[in-house]
Amino acid sequence: MNGGISFWYADDGLPAVREPLPGDATADVVIVGGGYTGLWTAYYLKKSAPFLRITVLEQKFCGYGASGRNGGWLYNGIAGRDRYAKLHGHEAAVRLQRAMNDTVDEVIAVAEAEGVDADLHKGGVLEVATSPAQLARLRAFHERELAYGEKDRELYGARETAERIRVADAVGSAWTPHGARLNPAKLVKGLAAAVEALGVVIHEMTPVTEIRPKHAVTPYGTVRAPYVLRCTEGFTAALKGQKRTWLPMNSSMIATEPLTEEQWEAIGWAGRETLGDMAHAYMYAQRTADGRIALGGRGVPYRFGSRTDNDGRTQRATVEALRDVLVRFFPSLAGVAVTHAWSGVLGVPRDWCATVTLDRATGLGWAGGYVGSGVATTNLAARTLRDLVRQDSGQAGRTELTELPWVGHKVRRWEPEPFRWLGVHGMYATYHTADRRERRHPATESSRLAKVADRVAGRH
Ligand SMILES: Cc1cc2nc3c(=O)[nH]c(=O)nc-3n(C[C@H](O)[C@H](O)[C@H](O)COP(=O)(O)OP(=O)(O)OC[C@H]3O[C@@H](n4cnc5c(N)ncnc54)[C@H](O)[C@@H]3O)c2cc1C
Repeated sequence: MNGGISFWYADDGLPAVREPLPGDATADVVIVGGGYTGLWTAYYLKKSAPFLRITVLEQKFCGYGASGRNGGWLYNGIAGRDRYAKLHGHEAAVRLQRAMNDTVDEVIAVAEAEGVDADLHKGGVLEVATSPAQLARLRAFHERELAYGEKDRELYGARETAERIRVADAVGSAWTPHGARLNPAKLVKGLAAAVEALGVVIHEMTPVTEIRPKHAVTPYGTVRAPYVLRCTEGFTAALKGQKRTWLPMNSSMIATEPLTEEQWEAIGWAGRETLGDMAHAYMYAQRTADGRIALGGRGVPYRFGSRTDNDGRTQRATVEALRDVLVRFFPSLAGVAVTHAWSGVLGVPRDWCATVTLDRATGLGWAGGYVGSGVATTNLAARTLRDLVRQDSGQAGRTELTELPWVGHKVRRWEPEPFRWLGVHGMYATYHTADRRERRHPATESSRLAKVADRVAGRH
């Protein structure tokens, strides 16, 4: 099956759609976008101030975007941490990292408290290196994470790695406990139900065409509210005036048929860690609750003019490329059937730094630009948006969260087309070439090509 939003829905069924906005309305807070960011924000705001009238407006259905399509890595990575360390000092970035570590447990705890069964399993994150250059990057990465206060992580050699999981050519790996596997669609579906049960109003099939201070405009009417929060991530470019704010980057995934016991025995992976590598065009994977491998990476990275979606349909070449990665990792799966393929968009700011902001002058807020790390980050962003709204409305003062370095961060916009398209395609073509070179000519030095691409793209 190709498209159909994602495998997670093929498995669990698409949700029944809620009623669209019936006409003009008012609220205390209006949230645009029914993904994790919007729903977690509604959840925490309503929990902290039950009297608030909160409306969520979603263009399709809650979980239509990346929140219903991702790789299900609930982990402590946050886009932009190293840059925030440069801008605000090391200690500020350590606070941000600690908040992210706690966020993994916060999501697990709330899912449990709200009775959301999202197939959660906290086995940590295992990142493997399959070449000397990747191993050098892995060690540097491990040292950096230790410096940000992650004392409980571990570095493994080839033998210890194989005891956990048998990835062909693995020369080492690094493990952190701050990660869990989940079924993303089950989380977003459960979260929407929990939010609704608290008394938040959700209107689906309601696209917001324009956001301006105190107004969210839709074809069916306008919702007026003192606070309008934009939680539209990879779809942001379609909103009036936001074309060059965050670039919609594609990520694609495949899922195999359920593997047999013998196949699992050959691979190992009993700890069900989320699995990644250190390639420049990296892969990410999980062992699903029903015994498949779901694996993702970059396909066609970006469509001209910031076009976003066709319900997850994925090009054949991308499916083949991901299948090649699967078989390169696990040669014993050469004959296994790939049963599902899908894609989604994530939001990439010009400096690759996630942000959360409330503009006190206008009441407009937003959170996003998570790049590929939003499953946990959205929860931290939402609790921060809650604190910012409560602070602005005089219900509370500053909190630890409102003082984190990613709050209120500003960045310039992306270049106009065709430079945007050329830049992103050039960057990923270079990453793939760099990965191929590192595989063919093993060296401990990372390919210089990738470093140049990083610099041009504004990543480092
Ligand atoms: C294939 C893929 C794999 C990924 N894997 C991982 C992973 O394993 N771990 C990880 O941490 N992160 C991962 N990510 C990123 C992560 O999924 C996202 O960062 C996160 O889901 C973002 O949530 P969100 O609510 O901000 O955005 P979204 O989930 O995209 O939600 C935005 C919502 O807003 C709605 N919307 C947009 N525009 C409008 C409008 N104008 N009016 C009304 N509604 C609108 C959309 O329909 C959508 O439902 C992955 C992303 C993709 C695409």
